[in-house]
Amino acid sequence: MGPGPISGYLADLHARVAPNHSGSVATYIPELAKVNPDQLGIALVTVDGRAYAVGHTTQAFTIQSVSKVFTYGMLLQSANLERVMAIVGIEPSGDAFNSISLDPQSGRPVNPMINAGAIAVSSQLTTGGALAAEQRILQAFGQYAGRPLSIDQSVYQSEKTTGHRNRAIAHLLLNNSITTGDPELGLDLYFKQCSILVDCLDLARMAATLANDGVNPVTREAVIDAPNVSRMLSVMASCGMYDFSGQWIYEIGIPAKSGVGGGIMLVMPGYFGLAVFSPRLDAKGNSVRGIEVCKALSEELGLNVLQRSRSALGAVIRANYTLANVSSRRARKPEIAAQLAAVAENARVIELTGALNFYAAELLSQTALSLPPGLQYLIFDFRHVSSFERAAAKLLASLIDELEGANILVFFTDTARLEEFGAIGEDGRALLDERAASTLANLDKAIELVEDWLLQAMGIDTDLQQAVGLSGVALCADLSAADQRYLTRYLTACRFNQGEYLTRAGEQGEHLHLLLDGRVSLLQPLEGGSQERVETVDPSGMIGPASLVGHEPQPFNVFAESDVATLRVDCAALLADRSPDAQRIALHLIRGCAATAMSRLQKALRQLYSKV
Ligand code: GLN
Repeated sequence: MGPGPISGYLADLHARVAPNHSGSVATYIPELAKVNPDQLGIALVTVDGRAYAVGHTTQAFTIQSVSKVFTYGMLLQSANLERVMAIVGIEPSGDAFNSISLDPQSGRPVNPMINAGAIAVSSQLTTGGALAAEQRILQAFGQYAGRPLSIDQSVYQSEKTTGHRNRAIAHLLLNNSITTGDPELGLDLYFKQCSILVDCLDLARMAATLANDGVNPVTREAVIDAPNVSRMLSVMASCGMYDFSGQWIYEIGIPAKSGVGGGIMLVMPGYFGLAVFSPRLDAKGNSVRGIEVCKALSEELGLNVLQRSRSALGAVIRANYTLANVSSRRARKPEIAAQLAAVAENARVIELTGALNFYAAELLSQTALSLPPGLQYLIFDFRHVSSFERAAAKLLASLIDELEGANILVFFTDTARLEEFGAIGEDGRALLDERAASTLANLDKAIELVEDWLLQAMGIDTDLQQAVGLSGVALCADLSAADQRYLTRYLTACRFNQGEYLTRAGEQGEHLHLLLDGRVSLLQPLEGGSQERVETVDPSGMIGPASLVGHEPQPFNVFAESDVATLRVDCAALLADRSPDAQRIALHLIRGCAATAMSRLQKALRQLYSKV
């Protein structure tokens, strides 16, 4: 087992539990009596597929009653709920696994976790033919385990020849009209499903698939629909440990299922699946050390799902600031930036983080509804959201309605991320998107749009990109006419078409371009081929000032957003010109570049630290 705290904890737990030799292996199925009783394995698989294993975790054993969860799941997938309910109930029996717990009125087995219920389920699964059913079961179990599984023929034969009580149950089910046809067919399938060989790691992956809403976290295969998973988990919680089920949920509080082969499967929804293999059983047929492991785990790690100490409370608001603190990466002319600053308090960004659940949505609503008056625009950034619950989608949708009632326009960024969270994410996204004033790919774009709206409300046309001449370039504005004339010796007029790159990241030698016409963006290439905007420059701005002071390779892709006209400055030649005129001009340009660099740095730092 690899390093890390989980491995260490499980190894310690294994060592603590190992000396317990109480209980005895099942002998009523003769073949099971042959197992080495000292084996002890613990395996844990997280919902993102990481596995931890200690002890006998690759030794095969028969799945036995743990199979009942999965065949019940198969029935739920293939028949409608009404039909399933007619075959088997969902009430705990309080009786032993092999009890004849049938409803006195309907004759229906009380739940699918006891033999009677499981045999009824298996009989139903044979309706398309016994062989096909066996194949389907092996295939489905294999999907949960993430590898092909097989049947232990000797255990199967052993149980088939000695399972008279189960045979009696099958006949009672036929007598009660819960099943039809030859009772041997369903019974045979039941004996086979119980004899499927798994090891501890298989069982942990099967459990992890349930913990992960029915998607195998290792193979990523969707094995069963999420609503059926919650049905399986609920019968595990109420009936999974036979006549120990009440005490189990009271003390351990995590859905689980045991089998007389010595396996216990535990499902921590949303977190992990765990399996323990230890063949000695107590009087109720549950693995002695299996129970001990689960009990310790639940208490020591506080995992009881009914204890909300492990609650969802946490950070949901990553940052909350107005556009006075943070601006878009569109470089605005100084006079426009000043006008924007005057109204920037009216627009706010709330960056969300972590799990968007009921608690998060409630907290967020309170925050959003108690913002200072005067707010016109509110951006919710979903980039760092890690999960999304239906409750949050519903509450956020009505929060937006309320905000819009108060004349606050709401914008969203990165809502495409919500689709990573499955069906709820997709529905939730639709619910939010249809309410948003606009949905933008990222926060920078959203801030730029809101800035544009703020400016447009003041009558400033933000799309107008007036071409300028050399004297209109901010960097040269303070140069005398004579110096500007002198500088032209080192200028080359360049034109680029929309969509062209002026230069690409990594190219040797950065060029200083004075932008006369069009719009240019500096783009940071990211892993995976996408690019992130660093800055967008309009006419009168400049690109590539670092070339005046060094000879670094170009750090960004420089991209023409529209047809572009620039004057390229031959910095090397200008700096090599030792005449006083050239030296004065160079110093002026270097000062201008340093000032721009400083203000960018300040802006970036403000952006970093202003977040609350
Ligand atoms: N095959 C076993 C039986 O029917 C399963 C029982 C169990 O694991 N509790 O007796």
